[in-house]
Amino acid sequence: MKSKNELKTYYPAILVLIAVLSFSLFSFYQLRKSAKARRVKLFELYTNQATERLEKRIIDYAQILRGCQSLFHSSTSITAKEWKLYTDNLKLADNYPGIQGVGFAKYISSSQKQKLEQEIRKDYPDFKIKSLSNSAYLTPIIYIEPKDQRNLRALGFDMFSESNRRQAMIRSMVTGQATITKKVILMQETNVGVQPGFLIYLPVYRNSGSLTQSHKAAEIEGFVYMPFRAYDLMNAVFKGFSNIDIKVYDQNKTDEKNILYRSSSLNKSLRDTSSYNIEFRTNKLINIAGSKWTIHFEANNQFGSQVERAQPQLVLIFGVAISILLYLLTLNYIHKRQTVLEELNLSKEIERKKDEFIGIASHELKTPLTSIKAYLQMLGRSELGEREKSFVNKANAQTNKLNSLIADLLDVSKIQAGSIKLNTAPFELKDLINESIESVLHMYQSHNIVKPSDIPDITLNGDKLRLEQALINLLVNAIKYSPGAGVVTLNLSLEEKKVILSVIDKGIGISKNHQSRVFEKFYRAEELSPVFSGLGMGLYIAYEIVRRHNGILKVESELGKGSNFSIQLPYLF
Ligand code: ADP
Repeated sequence: MKSKNELKTYYPAILVLIAVLSFSLFSFYQLRKSAKARRVKLFELYTNQATERLEKRIIDYAQILRGCQSLFHSSTSITAKEWKLYTDNLKLADNYPGIQGVGFAKYISSSQKQKLEQEIRKDYPDFKIKSLSNSAYLTPIIYIEPKDQRNLRALGFDMFSESNRRQAMIRSMVTGQATITKKVILMQETNVGVQPGFLIYLPVYRNSGSLTQSHKAAEIEGFVYMPFRAYDLMNAVFKGFSNIDIKVYDQNKTDEKNILYRSSSLNKSLRDTSSYNIEFRTNKLINIAGSKWTIHFEANNQFGSQVERAQPQLVLIFGVAISILLYLLTLNYIHKRQTVLEELNLSKEIERKKDEFIGIASHELKTPLTSIKAYLQMLGRSELGEREKSFVNKANAQTNKLNSLIADLLDVSKIQAGSIKLNTAPFELKDLINESIESVLHMYQSHNIVKPSDIPDITLNGDKLRLEQALINLLVNAIKYSPGAGVVTLNLSLEEKKVILSVIDKGIGISKNHQSRVFEKFYRAEELSPVFSGLGMGLYIAYEIVRRHNGILKVESELGKGSNFSIQLPYLF
């Protein structure tokens, strides 16, 4: 049971922890979601850009071939020198990095083979047509630029004798459009670092006017073409896309045998580990120069800006830290509050014990004091000398003082316990005033008490003795705190159904800050303590008596000038 209550005390701290933690988690998920959405968009943007770049590059190559085609169409025969001059002018290596070369293959029948070889040998003594199979028609490469080691390996190769190349050439011949071959291995390849490759063809006709399908075959002169080593080309095209992995497949199948290119952009050792986590992937299919290519893009969990990726985690860590901090602060606050409450309870308990003690002590003191008083009375009645009589009188006066102190203590403890009883009955206002003044004058002869000249006949209802006790206390205080003034005034004023009795003195007065507290239990203006004896009970008791008669006891005073304590009593109580 106790532990359940203890847990309840910590509810606010637990609530704070849960609330801030939930908020952090919510922010974390939201941020992660939006960061992911932005990364998805970025990935989409990159893949679109890369695809467009490849498409545009192939279109550019087709355009260059169109220029080469025009060269042939503009002249009846183009020599090797003219070909070199034209292609050198294009500065292909500078403008289009990744290009392997640009060449011309002549379309001949097998009967023209020897004649052509002899013709070309004028420029290249070793020229020889190399066919992979025998057929009626051949397309040997007769010009190729630049004439580097790789390209010279291809010179003389009859491309018609290889099925992939032949297919593309026939299609380009028939359509008149630039056509790409399927994946091939170029003649330019040596035994080392072999790459997949492809070629683009554009037909050259003897008569470049508008030709029908059958005429096209009859008028074909040859093909301008470009060979490509796929890795050389695509590394150049995809430069700058280092954060995504790119694979290009011939056709619309992503089979290993169709692969043309695979980027080495992503750290290969990372890609091989199990921690390599592909987060984004997409395929783009492009239709270019009569061929289909599939471009596959992948990016792992490292894709996107590091700040973007780290932000949600940072927010979560920060949120958890703040939650714990707030939790601890709230706990600390609860502990402190508990300590204050405990201290308050303790001081209340001490106060209660003190009141209890005062009650018991005053009760216990009363009994022996009553006996002392009885003995003194008996002593007073016996035959005594003058000196002894005055001693007995003095002892009597001190006993009376002690008696009234004890009575006050008893009253205080009764008020505290809420057990003070009022013996309510009708009484005359005149009697209350006269009898109170009489009692005071009996005790104090130092002052004169000026009383109202005419007291109207008003009957009040209440505990006359208790009200007398209150009024006497005010009169006694007025005398006590105005030494040397010689006079104290008791004023009476009547308001609608209200009697106001004011006790006015020209004494020491009370400062503003003390005025608000004089009706508190045991309160005394500190600076007075050593000069005027007292315990600070009289006003507390008077205040409670008046309050219980539905009346008001208040003070108006000015330090050094005097005080006015007034009791307001309703006619009927
Ligand atoms: P006591 O007089 O025994 O100290 P009271 O409860 O009667 O206790 O008064 C409380 C305090 O109020 C006094 O200690 C005194 O400082 C102040 N006080 C009361 N009556 C007067 C008065 N007529 N003039 C100045 N100060 C007063």
